[in-house]
Amino acid sequence: MDDFSLEQREAWKILEIGPIYHDKFAEAVDLPAADSIQVSDVRVVAKEVISTNSMHLAPVPTAIAGSWLELKQQVSECTQCALSQSRTQIVFAGGAQHAPLMIIGEAPGEEEDRSGEPFVGQAGKLLASMLKAIGLDRERDVLLLNSLKCRPPANRNPSPEEMAACKPFLHQQIELAQPRLILLTGKFAALAILGKDEPLLSMRGQTFEFATQTGLKIPVMVTYHPAYYLRRLTEKSKAWTDLLAVKHYLAKTKNLTQSV
Ligand code: URA
Repeated sequence: MDDFSLEQREAWKILEIGPIYHDKFAEAVDLPAADSIQVSDVRVVAKEVISTNSMHLAPVPTAIAGSWLELKQQVSECTQCALSQSRTQIVFAGGAQHAPLMIIGEAPGEEEDRSGEPFVGQAGKLLASMLKAIGLDRERDVLLLNSLKCRPPANRNPSPEEMAACKPFLHQQIELAQPRLILLTGKFAALAILGKDEPLLSMRGQTFEFATQTGLKIPVMVTYHPAYYLRRLTEKSKAWTDLLAVKHYLAKTKNLTQSV
């Protein structure tokens, strides 16, 4: 593991998961088998698997825009759910559109609603440090998205109707960005992409697959939301384990792209 830079080791220190955790336990860490991922091992998850009936109540746009900019415009004009009345602005995406890694969170919070950028609050800062710890820059190497593009008032949980209204936009973002790997953070991201309303614990360590409308199959991993690690500091080693799996997967598929 001597391929980690000084900068990355400094990021570890900030996270308190760094050299101490790594040096003491590196040999013992039970990685979620990113190195051994075979296409045949991957569990295929249908793209329309959100099964809760109420998820389908909200009206969905008849035609989804075919370019990134048009899609952003379409989202900014969306009035399909009540969040369009309370939002300051939409939070469409952050980072690099064609980054190899896509990270999907839950919904914008207060700071994101104000700035229009995803993951800029405390949880976002922790996420940026975690990414730095595996040598990724949040602006250059990652595309950051949310399951909802508008802030739920008082940061309440997204409703099934809001999730259903936003889902076509999120799926189209995946189609247009075509990342090499999708990392879902938290239960609402898992619901939006995998259609699974299961404890995160049961999904961590597995590799799923998201099939786009055009037949692209993208591996999907699941981890806790960074806000969870802010509340449960002792759980940070789980983030480290999951991020190492991400790092290993990106390294393994490196020859498929120019960056990272
Ligand atoms: N939490 C999220 O899931 N997304 C954000 O953009 C900010 C906090």
